[in-house]
Amino acid sequence: MDGPEFRDRSPRHSRPRTTWRIFRGLAAAAVIAGAAFLAAGFIYGDPRFSGLFEVSRGTGPGTAMAGQPGQPAVAESVRTDTPPPGVEEQDEPLGHPQKPDVASESYKFLATNDDGTPVGYSPCRPLHYVVNAALAPEGAERLVEDAISTISRATGIQFVDDGPTTEAPSQSRIPYQRDVYGERWAPLLIAWTTPDQAPQLKGPVIGTGGSTHFSFGDGPKSFVTGSLELDAPQIAEDLSQTDGSAYATAVILHELGHVMGLEHVNDPVQLMYPEIGAPDGLAAGDLNGLYQLGKAQCRKDL
Ligand SMILES: [Zn+2]
Repeated sequence: MDGPEFRDRSPRHSRPRTTWRIFRGLAAAAVIAGAAFLAAGFIYGDPRFSGLFEVSRGTGPGTAMAGQPGQPAVAESVRTDTPPPGVEEQDEPLGHPQKPDVASESYKFLATNDDGTPVGYSPCRPLHYVVNAALAPEGAERLVEDAISTISRATGIQFVDDGPTTEAPSQSRIPYQRDVYGERWAPLLIAWTTPDQAPQLKGPVIGTGGSTHFSFGDGPKSFVTGSLELDAPQIAEDLSQTDGSAYATAVILHELGHVMGLEHVNDPVQLMYPEIGAPDGLAAGDLNGLYQLGKAQCRKDL
């Protein structure tokens, strides 16, 4: 039995230390009665909707957030297929999130359930990922592996590298691609790409990341797949500079934070601040948010 789909994409991350913009979108979802009909609310950038908007603000950490969030994207009902439920789902979480050393409430979630719990991935199954590394700068693939290890420790989510893919990034990626990936949710797609291939990376935006969540009716939501797009030319340029790998790592961690379910915060100390000034890695708020996301519900039903 299928349920309504809610598609959620995160805000985009913009390049630091320059005039920059934040692109944000809000999910809207329509619940459609009928077993096999899924309702999809596509977020920013989907050319079918006007969910894309931008907020401009000055440079420098601590600048007050300007502008207003945009209106929710229009929802659309679509018919789609889902894989058999509970693929690889175990009775218990496969790992446990590392408890942060320092308490902090400086985090925000992209989506929450009615009971206030954050929407995350089921910790009772592995999160598979594939990498389209055709355009990856020299040495950059290792940075992705390291960042995934860091996120795995913080969330307890067990990642499985399914190897390379030729799948191109898409702003309306289909979450179940049986012909490509078999009878399971499509793996997380990590794509080294360009603004030409991924127009949302045009201008100062250096990376984007987000996940798709599903639920049955008004029931609890769970992420089932996601994608992360990295601006290969911009990151290659950064890697040629001092501290370039630390900065590139910060970008990848930030986007993975969105993938896992973290929203931007208006706190320049956190990596989920929209601008990375000092790439010191995950801060206390980021870690506490990821810790909460690592305790999401297990989902044999999805
Ligand atoms: Zn961001």
